[in-house]
Amino acid sequence: MSGALVLLSGGQDSATCLAWALTQYAQVETIGFDYGQRHRSELEARSRVLQGLRSKFPKWAPRLGTDYVLDLGVLGQISETALTRDCDIAASGNGLPNTFVPGRNIIFLTFAAAVAYRRKLTHIVSGLCETDYSGYPDCRDDTVKALQVVLNLGMEQRFVLDTPLMWIDKAETWRMAERLGGNDLVELIRSQTLSCYKGDTQHLHAWGQGCGDCPACNLRAKGYASFIARSPQ
Ligand code: ZN
Repeated sequence: MSGALVLLSGGQDSATCLAWALTQYAQVETIGFDYGQRHRSELEARSRVLQGLRSKFPKWAPRLGTDYVLDLGVLGQISETALTRDCDIAASGNGLPNTFVPGRNIIFLTFAAAVAYRRKLTHIVSGLCETDYSGYPDCRDDTVKALQVVLNLGMEQRFVLDTPLMWIDKAETWRMAERLGGNDLVELIRSQTLSCYKGDTQHLHAWGQGCGDCPACNLRAKGYASFIARSPQ
C-alpha cells in the first residue's frame, strides 16, 4: 500500500474522501488552503474532522499523518467572487455562479502535487465531482485527467489523482460514508463538516450546519433527505 495526500476543505465531500483514503492507503496526509475565504469556519471544520477521525476511529488513526495548511492568500486577492468578496451569490454573465474561483482546483491540485512530491506520496485524493456540481469546469473528470498528465510530465512522476466521488451524487456520498465508517462516520460528517458557502454555523439542521439557503446548503439538504429516505430505519 502506498501513501496519499487528501485535499481536505472541511466539507462533506472531502471528509468522505479522507475516510475513503484511510481504507485504501497505509499513509495518509492532508492538505488545506487558506485563500481568503469569506468565512474562517471552513478551516475550523477541517480541524474538527481530523480530531474526530483520530479519536473515534482507532483503526484509522495510526495511518493519519501530518496536516498542512497552505497560505494562498494571493488567490483571494486576484479573484472577484462571492467566496472571497462580501457580495451576494448569483449567476454571472457566462452562466457560471459567481462562487466560481477561476483556476482554484487546478491551483490546489498543483500545490498538492508539489507537497506530495516532497513527501513521496503517490496518490492525490480530492472530492471533485461532476455529477451534481455547480457547472465548475475544473471539477470535470476531463480536467482532472488532463492535469494528471501535466503534473506527471512536469514533475517526472507517476501521480494518480483519485476522485472517488466523481460519478456519484450527494445521497450516494452519504451512503459511501456509511459503508466506510458506519453511523459514527455519518454522524461525524453530519455534525462537524461545513459545506455552506456563507460559512453559517448558527443554524443546525437535520443535515448539518449551514444557512439552509445557499446552493451548497440546498444540495446538501437534498442529498441527505434522499439518503435518509432510502436507508432502512
Ligand atoms: Zn448555506
